[in-house]
Amino acid sequence: MAETVTEHDTGPRAGTDFIRTMVAEDIAANTHGGRVVTRFPPEPNGYLHIGHVKSICLNFGIAAENTGGQCHLRFDDTNPETEDVKYVESIRTDVKWLGFDWGEHLYYASDYFEQMYAYAVALIEGGNAYVDSASEEEIREARGTVMQPGRPTPFRDRSIVENLDLFARMRAGEFPDGAHVLRAKIDLSSNNMLMRDPVLYRIRHATHYRTGDSWCIYPLYDYAHPIEDAIECVTHSLCTLEFDNNREVYDWIVDRLPRDPSHRFRIREGCRPQQTEFARLALDYTVMSKRKLLQLVNEELVNGWDDPRMPTVAGMRRRGLTPESLRAFAELVGVAKANSRVDIAKFDYAVREDLNPRVPRVLCVLKPLRVVITNYDADRVEQLTAPFYPHDVPLDGSRDLPFAHEIFIDRDDFSEDPPKGYNRLAPGREVRLRYAYIVRCHEVIRDDAGDVVELRCTYDPETRGGAADRAVKGTIQWVSAQHSVQCEVRVYDRLFRVADPDAEAERLGVDWKTLLNPQSLVVVHDARIEPGVRNDAPGTRYQFERIGYFTSDAVDSREDALVFNRTVSLRDSFAKAAPAPRADTPRTDTPRTGAPSEHAAGGTTTTPAAPHARSAELSRRMAALHEEHGIDRVQADILTRSHATADLFDATVAAGRNGGGAVTAAAVANWIVNELPRVQRDRALTDLALTGSQLAALIGLVEREEITASVARDLLAELADAGGDPVAMVNGRNLRQMGDASEIEPLITSLMTEYDDRVQQYRGGRTGLLGFFVGQVMAKTQGRANPRMVGDLVRKHLDG
Ligand code: ATP
Ligand code: MG
Repeated sequence: MAETVTEHDTGPRAGTDFIRTMVAEDIAANTHGGRVVTRFPPEPNGYLHIGHVKSICLNFGIAAENTGGQCHLRFDDTNPETEDVKYVESIRTDVKWLGFDWGEHLYYASDYFEQMYAYAVALIEGGNAYVDSASEEEIREARGTVMQPGRPTPFRDRSIVENLDLFARMRAGEFPDGAHVLRAKIDLSSNNMLMRDPVLYRIRHATHYRTGDSWCIYPLYDYAHPIEDAIECVTHSLCTLEFDNNREVYDWIVDRLPRDPSHRFRIREGCRPQQTEFARLALDYTVMSKRKLLQLVNEELVNGWDDPRMPTVAGMRRRGLTPESLRAFAELVGVAKANSRVDIAKFDYAVREDLNPRVPRVLCVLKPLRVVITNYDADRVEQLTAPFYPHDVPLDGSRDLPFAHEIFIDRDDFSEDPPKGYNRLAPGREVRLRYAYIVRCHEVIRDDAGDVVELRCTYDPETRGGAADRAVKGTIQWVSAQHSVQCEVRVYDRLFRVADPDAEAERLGVDWKTLLNPQSLVVVHDARIEPGVRNDAPGTRYQFERIGYFTSDAVDSREDALVFNRTVSLRDSFAKAAPAPRADTPRTDTPRTGAPSEHAAGGTTTTPAAPHARSAELSRRMAALHEEHGIDRVQADILTRSHATADLFDATVAAGRNGGGAVTAAAVANWIVNELPRVQRDRALTDLALTGSQLAALIGLVEREEITASVARDLLAELADAGGDPVAMVNGRNLRQMGDASEIEPLITSLMTEYDDRVQQYRGGRTGLLGFFVGQVMAKTQGRANPRMVGDLVRKHLDG
């Protein structure tokens, strides 16, 4: 049952993107003596994530595609405070697992510290660097702004002799952190803020994970990176777009490195690395900053770096993704010069396309419902032959499936009151059991509470394995009650509830972690799977027919306690009502024997339109939501999973209408689908104190911009617990939105004084700090300020 592995293709791909075009042109023009040397330079301060995969595929890919090409793995470990050998190990493992080989080219920036120091001395000797003893604040302040040129600190014109002496003493450990820095002497009036005498070295009395306490001065990125590239004779130094402005510094440094044959650390002849920037990968429903991922790990919001919900290589590996799928995704995304977010559907598509032709199909029942086959002898057991692969997959193999008197089917495949078009089991109806027989339901057994606990069916012996082609409504999965194995299934979903957590957090003025998806992991403890999988190696991948792709968990799964992770669903249950792009249409896999499976026939089991068995009444309500109110199918589905939810929706819409408008059906749907579950916790909807008219009043306040969404969320939690009149609550507690600029502006100006350093960084180009200021204002107003207005005002003040 081994998977097939496709070789990833190499060979020139000139012209497929602007970087490959450039490399091809450089080879043709003999720019670097025809050589192609790239590098992947992670800082060992976190695990690799899908964004790094893009960079790895690009750098190692280009090296592999060109004759004689090399790609170096270089640990950019110049910052002692956050780096650790455990990250080095994980990065090496992940790059190898992705299928790339650095051969003998494994490097550490920390191995070049002596050389970097020698170059700094040379810069001082040439009058190109000086020791500045001004404080961090003074230096920042003297650097000026985008509008104003910088001015020299009193130390800029120190003599070379004095600079050499001070720099040597910095290294010797004579000074505390922050006492001096070494700066390049470039141009204090440059339009490029980074060129205004950038800091090259700072004093840090910290133990480095490799060099220990040998050094107490450490080089900064802008100084270290070009040197690392030049020492290794890299030709194409590829980095992400935010380093655009750093290129000028990069070139300045590279052009001043010693090439004189007498220099002890002379840069080899012909080595002139060239920096080129490409777009950073941003993927929907996740975050990519190592700092944030570290926070999720440290605050135990996920179960470690390899939690299958994490966008890390380790997490994705554990989730069941293959290296091929990650490489295919990188290729699908391509390399461009403009930043953009990538739709998660693209990612899932690459994963499904990769798994479909390689993994065996098995039967698993997530929510077992006992079925007794009354006309099948109680002690009889039959071994049915079932193929592992559908006929459009060029792999062979089959296993025996035991069939017996008692089996389990999935609860969702039975409906007492089947809606129109329901293709599964219902009283008096027939369904085909995959690879087995057609069965008919005769009797429904209930427990004292009235819940269905068992079905009594008869089987038709003439229909074994698809024989006797008789039309039945559908085909469902099943397992033998006695032979199947109980297992745990971890159903993973998006890590965040919103596509762009950072932007959304900024917009709403909330902490990004509040946007985590509470349903990102749903654990099913008592699933049942066919017995044959018990002896498979940990990490084996499968398709559970009609459900999705799964992998046995390499960490927790045991032969006597199987655990499976959902890698990806069979179809995009998250997809919007809009028609899916062509590329996202999954291929159907028609079974080799038996009747066509339901999902091949029409996909009604996993498409959002009808993923749940529901009564005819609820189905009608679902259609009405979609058709009359224009609610998209995914939301309509969620809103009609129970009568209680559908009732709350209707009551809220009706109350909103009476309340004089502003409360649209779409807004009501959003609040019930997205916000209510967070305050509901594990209570039934009918146990909440909240009524439709209260919810309508609350939504009205938000829609009319009388309160902010963040205040409304707090109120919703209260209403859920105890009910109440939202308007009275808002008036009584002075929760109305601050929509008056004159109330907000003083807060902004005082924050700007308090965080002057960040203001300067913002003006120096770190525009991402906008979110920081917006967040601070929102916090200071307890979420009462109009976030849009705050955004505008903050921008105005920072830019002014
Ligand atoms: P930080 O610098 O904040 O620690 P980083 O994500 O830049 O984080 P590095 O270890 O410096 O981490 O990254 C190594 C390489 O991976 C760099 O060349 C960087 O450009 C690239 N890289 C990192 N994130 C992405 C991304 N999202 N998309 C593409 N390339 C990325
Ligand atoms: Mg970096």
